[in-house]
Amino acid sequence: MLTREEFEAAQSRAVDMIRESGIHITDEEAERIEVADFGLSRLDVEGAQILTLVAAGRIAVKVVALFPNQTLPEHWHPPVGDDPGKEETERVVWGTARFYIPGDDNMRAGFVPAGKQDVYTMRHELILEPGGQITMEPGTKHWFQAGEQGAVIYSFSSVARDVLDRFTDPDIQRVTQIQD
Ligand code: ZN
Repeated sequence: MLTREEFEAAQSRAVDMIRESGIHITDEEAERIEVADFGLSRLDVEGAQILTLVAAGRIAVKVVALFPNQTLPEHWHPPVGDDPGKEETERVVWGTARFYIPGDDNMRAGFVPAGKQDVYTMRHELILEPGGQITMEPGTKHWFQAGEQGAVIYSFSSVARDVLDRFTDPDIQRVTQIQD
């Protein structure tokens, strides 16, 4: 849960970061940036600010702003009906981001949020700077974390059904509750 104040502060910080990155967004888009605390109520540690630019029938484009060292929890995109699951490409536009995917444990720069060793199981680290990108096949577990400056990332994917994403951490609730 987020307070209204936390939500508004995070949204305006994300707007500044996105504009700083060189991505032009309208005021109307700025106002609908989603602030996701994943139901964990510690946004700066585990959370993400997400602006959906395109959510058509088969394609989605989002801009994700992550605060310094903020972590987007481990998840995967399961098959839905006839669809094999969301295919997703993340491209760093500004700052640095650390991605964690299947493979040998080579984690150096990043860290698993305190007390969450069991629910961050991918430890193969890939550090991406602006222009770097990674494509995740459906069903692949992944999580990512901003570097010291934060990060602005484009996320291109097939079908956006975020509510159906699966998370390793059973405490996660995908829909953010805001308390007025
Ligand atoms: Zn994903």
